[in-house]
Formats: sequence, structure tokens, C-alpha cells
Amino acid sequence: MIRAGRAALGALALAVLGAACSATPSAERAPGAPTSTRVAAAAAAERSATTVAPTTTSPAPSTITSTLRGPADPAGAGDAYFPLLGNGGFDVAHYDVAIIANPPATTDIVVRATITAVATATLATFDLDLTGMTITSVAVDGGAATFTRYGAEVVIVPALTISFGATFVTIIEYSGTPARLVDAEQTVIGWQRVGTTSFVVSEPNGAHNWLASSDHPSDKAAFTFRIEVPSAVTAAANGHLMSAVEANGRTTYVWDAPEPMATYLAIVAIGAFTIVDEATHGNVHIRHVFPTPLASQLTSVFARTGEMLDVLTSLFGPYPFADYGALVIDARLGYALETQTLALFDRQIALSSSTDIFQVHELAHQWFGNSVTARLWRDIWLNEGFATYAESLWHERTDASFDIDASMRSLARRTFAPIRDPGPDAMFTRSVYDRGALALHALRIDVGDETFFAIVRTWVAERARSNGSTEELIALASRLAGRDIGPLVERWLSADPMPALTR
Ligand SMILES: [Zn+2]
Repeated sequence: MIRAGRAALGALALAVLGAACSATPSAERAPGAPTSTRVAAAAAAERSATTVAPTTTSPAPSTITSTLRGPADPAGAGDAYFPLLGNGGFDVAHYDVAIIANPPATTDIVVRATITAVATATLATFDLDLTGMTITSVAVDGGAATFTRYGAEVVIVPALTISFGATFVTIIEYSGTPARLVDAEQTVIGWQRVGTTSFVVSEPNGAHNWLASSDHPSDKAAFTFRIEVPSAVTAAANGHLMSAVEANGRTTYVWDAPEPMATYLAIVAIGAFTIVDEATHGNVHIRHVFPTPLASQLTSVFARTGEMLDVLTSLFGPYPFADYGALVIDARLGYALETQTLALFDRQIALSSSTDIFQVHELAHQWFGNSVTARLWRDIWLNEGFATYAESLWHERTDASFDIDASMRSLARRTFAPIRDPGPDAMFTRSVYDRGALALHALRIDVGDETFFAIVRTWVAERARSNGSTEELIALASRLAGRDIGPLVERWLSADPMPALTR
């Protein structure tokens, strides 16, 4: 993700050699609160982001809500930032998501999610994450299942206990207008509408306002979307458009995204869009989804996508997916998001003079964040630090007059808070982006260009379509450098004040 006027300023500071930018985001704050305080804050943040609309919620069993749970807990994936997101006991392999939408007549959607998962424990019950909506039926392996709800948890009791290691299929049907969720910075997340356009922006914890899911990046899965809409509008989603079949004034769009994807990277957009199919570039099929009145202008704006793919591929290794393109929302949202294979940009960012930098940032996320996804949200710098540093690497490769070292030294004269464990309220502050990029530049200075780019390419190759952690990156860097890189990286992530860049 990148926000206009926040991370974007960082991008511009990098783009213009020596540019001094003293703006410090007001939301930036130093972490360091005791763990118990952080966890309490996380739980409070999650509550604020998940209990907005009245639901058919049952009271929470006290034994379930009274304690925080570990990785084996059915109600959460073990992430202290969002203790109840994700679910223990199973691993989702595939979401088949059928959506019926009827804009502009109604904001309600009807969803039938078919979830194929593998049990990692013997399951007499299991949980899904879903807030709001009215659930009409749940079936497991063809048999009716009972369910109860508390908060954003749906506790499902299948008719038969699911064996350890078994693949099982859950079909959950629900409908309603998705609840309004906001993140820690009061940005609306999840399924939302602007005018008559519906779209999804879920980072970090918004996907469960429209998708019954295991809503945590540690549980990635393939997705198929079947979206039925009035034929006057177009429906887009991640991956490849397999078919668009019209019957009786309605069109069903089937989009298939076979590569594993975190729930926060799922995108659905419904509105007056034109799908612009570009020629295949190398092995990558480029297609964009633009607001119809802007389609021709935006086709020019995104004309360098193939060139960007070439440059980033030369730096990081093969592009990790089959498709790529931009989705532009004709509104002023104030951010762009790296939704997998179809990155979202608002109109203001797409048409800004620094659009190329935003485009490079979101494209770089396809390697860093989307293919290699931070396993826990505290490691968000792995997503944003790499994507931010990629902006400077793009300049280094495409502008002979750009001195990346001078630019990073200029950036390093500013003050950034530690980012090793920023807390759920500070995951998208400038420090995470810019100090993350500086940590990578410091590593590059320390190990040299050859080893640095070997580390980067090995990181994305070994962890492709999977997850990673700070500890795992340090272990890899130390292995390839032939010495312990841990103290250097930890200092750059944790020291307060921030270290100086040294040769
Ligand atoms: Zn980003």
C-alpha cells in the first residue's frame, strides 16, 4: 500500500536528489510499549475494526474471549496484532467465491463461498472470519452444519468430525450490505462503494467484511471469482478473465487466480469499467481495468508497465504471476494498493505527475508482499521497505543522473522511528516505508552489490508464493554473506535513534 501525501512524499524525496522534506506524519509514534499493552491495543483495534454493524451475533462464550490464544487456537492465527484473525486447525487451499450484485438498485450482495481446506488437526468444530452479513446456510462435505457467531468469528460444527489431514469443503451462503469497517487511520477498508462503483480494499484486516475466510496472510489460497452483475456494468477481480457470459440482461464474469494469495490482496470491482487487454509481455499477460470515460487517457498513463516489468525482473528475478495490470477507481481515495495481479490506484494517484513511482511501488509489491508475504503483520516492513527501495532502484536503472547512495543519505538525515515491531496502529507510517528502505540500503553497503542482489533474488525464489519473516531474511543474508548479518539489520530496524549510514 502507499498513501498519497504520506509514503508518496517519501517517494518524491527519493526521486529528487537531495530534496529535503521535513514533513513527519502525525500518526508516527515510537513503539516500545510492553507486550501486554501492545496486545491489548491490538485487540482493541481489532474490535474497533470488526464490530461496526449489528449482526446476528451470539454472546461470546467467556472461555473463548477471556484469553489470547496461540497458533493452534481455532479462533486466530497467532498474530498479536489481530488475535482473532485467521483460524487454527486448517489450511485453506481454494476459495470459490460466487457473488450476485445488483447495482445501482441495492448495495446488498449475495455470496456463496465454497472453501476447500486441509485439516491440520482433528476438527469437531472450526472457525471462519466474517463480520456483519446474514448467514443463511453452512454445509461441510455436503452435510448441513450448525454455526454460532461471536464478533467476527463464525464457529462451525460439522455433522461429522473432520479427520486430521483430510481435505474438506465448506459452503457458506450469506447476504447483506457489507459492514463499514475502518482501519487504525480511519481509512475505510473492506468492501465499499463510491458512487455506483463497488470495490474492495482490505489491507490489513478488511477482507472478512465480505468474504467468510481465514483472514490472515499466513493462510494463502487460490481464488476463483464468479460475479453476476447487470450487463450495464463490468466486474473485475484478481487473475485471469476466464469468461463473461451474458443471459437475460445479466453477465457472469469468472476470474481465476490460481496462485496462492492472502485475503487482504483479493480485489473485486464492479462498475462502469473497460477492460484494456494489452499484448502479452514476455510471459506476463497485461490487462488493465479502467473507468470507461478515462480508458484512453489511462492506457497512455500505464504504457510503461512492460518496461517496469522488465526492469524489476532484471533486479528481482521472474515476475511471480501470470497476469498483471492496474485497476483505477474514479475517486479520490488517497492511496494505492498492490492487490494481487491487479493493483488498485485511485484517480488522483493514477493521474499525478509522480504516477510512475506509485506504479513501480505497487508492481514491486507483487514480488515483495504478494509472492513473499510477511507471515506476521509486525514484519510489514518486509513488504513496504522492499517496495519503497524498489522506487529508488527503478531510478538507478532508468536515470543515469540519479545517485542512489546520495539520495539514501539525504533520506537518512531525517528521523524515523524503530520499525521492528511497529504495532497495529503504526504499520503504514513513513518510518516503516523509508526506514525499511534505508535498512536495505545499509545491508547493500555492508555486503556489496553482488551479494545484496543475490540475497534479494534468493529471497523471492526460495519463498515464492509463500511467507517470510525478518528472522528468515537475516538467516538468508547471513548465509550468503558468510557472516552474521543479524546485528546490522536489527540495529537498522530497532535502534533509537536510527543509526547513521556508514561505509
Ligand atoms: Zn506499499
